[in-house]
Amino acid sequence: MVSNGAGASKLVLFDIDGTLVHAAGVGRSAIEGAMIEVYGTPGPIDDLPFDGMTDPQIVRTLLRAEGLSEDEIAPGFDRLWPVYAARLEDEIDERRDRMRPTPGVPEILDALEAEGAALGLLTGNIVAGAEGKLSAVGLWRRFPFGAFGCDDADRNRLPPIALERAFRHTGTRYGPGRTWIVGDTPHDIECARGSGLFVLAVATGRFSVDDLRRAGADEVLPSLRDTGRAMSALARA
Ligand SMILES: [Mg+2]
Repeated sequence: MVSNGAGASKLVLFDIDGTLVHAAGVGRSAIEGAMIEVYGTPGPIDDLPFDGMTDPQIVRTLLRAEGLSEDEIAPGFDRLWPVYAARLEDEIDERRDRMRPTPGVPEILDALEAEGAALGLLTGNIVAGAEGKLSAVGLWRRFPFGAFGCDDADRNRLPPIALERAFRHTGTRYGPGRTWIVGDTPHDIECARGSGLFVLAVATGRFSVDDLRRAGADEVLPSLRDTGRAMSALARA
């Protein structure tokens, strides 16, 4: 039942928001609603760009900014995520027609699969969030494994988890030299760098090609729209 990437030469780990999907703000609305329900406040949510942050990191950052101590945050933390997941489902039902894969995404996934690459996720979303957002645009089943915000609040600690799951799924040990992260923020770049992985940054989120180049990505593209160009960018491994 190893169907994706057995013996493949490379592993490509995709970020979700701004990279695979434009999610029409469903995650932000669901987090805001869930925080109000569980903590009575969403904190200064309108002032915080979520880009590149993990879900637990977003919530902690907002609650601390609101002056809550860890003792006040901890009791609600586990309860928050099922509330978030339920609200996310409602938000997706309402905004599904405004959610879409970023340009070129289905095509690059097809091309990578045809080449025998293994595909996974490396995302700050909790699993339920990843599944909800990607299912809404028909992409969830393209990714048989991944590392998620519920595995660790620190994105930089997610690569070893993703590599271990890649091994369990494919039987292949991937690592530096054969693994790419594809993301849209300097956090994705820092995360890849910290684990010695290659990183392709795409300017389909809030950051420009210049921003992403300055942040030190191996390759930067305006988008994944040009499949040939994207495949060339990922050719190093
Ligand atoms: Mg992103």
